Amino acid sequence: MARYSGAVCRICRRENQKLFLKGDRCFSEKCSFERRAYPPGQHGQGRIKFSEYGLQLREKQKIKRMYGLLEGQFRGVFEEAERRKGITGANMLSMLERRLDNVAYRAGFANSRAEARQLVRHGHFSINGKRVDIPSFMVGKGDLLEVRESSRNIPRILSALESVKRREIPQWLELDAASLKGRVRDLPTRDDVTIPLEERLVVELYSK
Ligand code: SF4
Repeated sequence: MARYSGAVCRICRRENQKLFLKGDRCFSEKCSFERRAYPPGQHGQGRIKFSEYGLQLREKQKIKRMYGLLEGQFRGVFEEAERRKGITGANMLSMLERRLDNVAYRAGFANSRAEARQLVRHGHFSINGKRVDIPSFMVGKGDLLEVRESSRNIPRILSALESVKRREIPQWLELDAASLKGRVRDLPTRDDVTIPLEERLVVELYSK
C-alpha cells in the first residue's frame, strides 16, 4: 500500500485528534482541527457510531499515521513488540518512539516526523559518530544523535530548533541546541507518549 499523500490535516480530523503532523502550523490558529473538529467528507458532521472493529481499526490507523508508517512496517513493529518481554502495546509504542525519525523530531531537529524522515534519509544525522540514514533505525540508551558537520547550516534544521520551545522535549531525550546534539538519556516507556492513544485496541485488532 502506498504512503498517504493527501491533505495531512484530514488525518487529524478523521481521527478526531490533533496529531501534530505539520510543525508550526499545528500550534497556530491555522490548524484545521481547531477550526473544523469533525471528520472530513459529506457526512463528517453527522453522528458516527463505530462498531468494535471500527474503533480498533481507527486506533490502529491513528497510531500508524502519526508515526508515518506503512501497513507492513507497522505490522512488523507490532510483531516484534509481541515477541519481546512485557506488555505488547507498551512495547510497540516504545519501539515506535525509538525510531530515528521520531527521535530527530522529538529532540527538536525537525518540525514534524515526515520532515525528520526526509532529513534522516538524506544522511544529515549521525549516531555515535556514524552516519545513519535509515529512519527505522532504533536508538539505544546513551546514544548520541548529532547533526553532521556538513549539514549544520540546513535552514530546515535551524528553523526547527528555533521553534522547538513550542514543543516539549521529552524527559528521555536531551538537546544541546547550540552544538546540534541530542542524547538518549533513557529508553522511552509507555508513559512518555503523552498523546492519548489506546494501544490495547491495536493489540485486540491484530490478535483476531
Ligand atoms: Fe493536525 Fe497539525 Fe493539521 Fe492541526 S495543523 S490538523 S494538528 S496536522
